Amino acid sequence: MLVVGGGVTGAGVALDAAARGLTVALCERTDLAAGTSRWSSKLVHGGLRYLAHGQLGLARESARERAVLMRVTAPHLVRRLPFLVPDVAGRDVSALAELGGRLGDAVRVSVRGGRGSLPGTGRIGAEGVSRLIPGVRPGRGGVVFWDGQLEDDARLVVSLARTAATFGARVLTGATVTGVDGEAVAVSVDGESVSVRASVVVNAAGVWSQRLAPGIRLAPSRGSHLIVPAARLGTPIAALTVPLPGSRSRYVFALPQPGGLLYLGITDEPVAGPVPDDDPVPSDAEVTQLLETVNQVLAVPLDRSDVIGAYAGLRPLVLPAAAGDGPAGATADLSRSHLLSWDGPVLTVVGGKLTTYRLMAAEAVDAVVARLGRGAQRSSTARLPLVGAAPERVLARVDAPARLVHRYGTEAPVVAALGGELVVEGREETVGELRFAVRSEGARNVADLLDRRTRIGLVTSDRERAVAVAEEVLAER
Ligand SMILES: Cc1cc2nc3c(=O)[nH]c(=O)nc-3n(C[C@H](O)[C@H](O)[C@H](O)COP(=O)(O)OP(=O)(O)OC[C@H]3O[C@@H](n4cnc5c(N)ncnc54)[C@H](O)[C@@H]3O)c2cc1C
Repeated sequence: MLVVGGGVTGAGVALDAAARGLTVALCERTDLAAGTSRWSSKLVHGGLRYLAHGQLGLARESARERAVLMRVTAPHLVRRLPFLVPDVAGRDVSALAELGGRLGDAVRVSVRGGRGSLPGTGRIGAEGVSRLIPGVRPGRGGVVFWDGQLEDDARLVVSLARTAATFGARVLTGATVTGVDGEAVAVSVDGESVSVRASVVVNAAGVWSQRLAPGIRLAPSRGSHLIVPAARLGTPIAALTVPLPGSRSRYVFALPQPGGLLYLGITDEPVAGPVPDDDPVPSDAEVTQLLETVNQVLAVPLDRSDVIGAYAGLRPLVLPAAAGDGPAGATADLSRSHLLSWDGPVLTVVGGKLTTYRLMAAEAVDAVVARLGRGAQRSSTARLPLVGAAPERVLARVDAPARLVHRYGTEAPVVAALGGELVVEGREETVGELRFAVRSEGARNVADLLDRRTRIGLVTSDRERAVAVAEEVLAER
């Protein structure tokens, strides 16, 4: 099997297939997590939004996959995060959030592994609000619900690919699939054309899937985040949740991140025309929308001078057959369900979201196994820890700094032993992390190191200071 695309979907497919005994190669044109998978909000959602749209099936799917990620696949990479909806956003708003949160709790306890995985929804007083998010206008209480937060989406993808490799999958970066002709797949590897024979090709190229499968219909939508110092909101320990004016199911979140940062997102802007190869950027209107929405509840409003970085990604939303030539309304209302579609030897798997990658991958490989008549019938990935993963009680005993354990799990001592010097003064990443990326995680250049294996590149001024160190580490090879 040849998998096209090294995002969360492609890496998940490669792992599922290799673990079932198939011979697998994954070709990624740039680097692991080079596409949408590193631009997410880094949430492992239980699917509250789906409940708001009455999509109970999708909500249960998400809640089930969240429990698998938190308990088995990657407990080191996923943590519990409280979400605060403050009463200063409107008492009707927090009352609705409380109802939604309680419904979400009911869905959670109804799925395997969900009970006890997160605390329940509840109301807190004004003091509790100030403790969780000191920057919110004081004097009133709020509602807190809980969900999962990923340490880093790109690290999940790299861990998936490395785990696939332990089952024999060949993972190639810098390898662009340019065409499929029967069993012959044309691949350009660092500019050199080669032909690979594959019984089946799984097209997991995200928003770029249409290039190999022109028959599928996508409605890409841009989602943007701003990066601000967490200190501006008093270094919150919860995610601030503020509804977009006029919406009952769309929120702007201020999400606390490691390293004293806060990501402010998210927008949902339909993108017309061919999908560009370059990374998208937030528009001026999105920056204004994000700041104005969150400022409704802050004691001291944010302004553009607080923004130290920004990023955007394109959601690979599947256009339903009923939608004619384009989304009739906003892309925010399009379903987040995924699509599996055969075209000759090519199976396209697209849509869904990061949280449900495992399910998408299992369904895709089920379809491949049925067609090939080879490989184990059933997926084993719900019981398969990724490299570095271990139960929480084991992680608690790993002899390495907690920050490294959150990113590398049981491999943290190896990373720590490779060097504790800081890459950039004032940030937490170490030279040992860069060395580990080069030696064990397939990083090949400065961008792989700073924009994917670590996320230093999200703050432009920090990235500039880190380039020379990254080059030195690459030169050690
Ligand atoms: C702003 C934003 C926020 C989001 N937040 C969340 C969230 O919090 N939680 C959640 O669960 N989901 C979230 N999502 C959704 C989630 O990020 C995506 O559904 C998911 O990352 C898509 O992964 P993918 O592997 O299908 O696509 P991608 O990650 O885009 O991977 C496709 C890969 O294919 C490669 N490629 C393309 N063409 C070729 C070719 N010809 N040959 C070889 N390689 C090729 C690309 O380089 C790319 O790496 C968010 C999405 C966005 C945009």
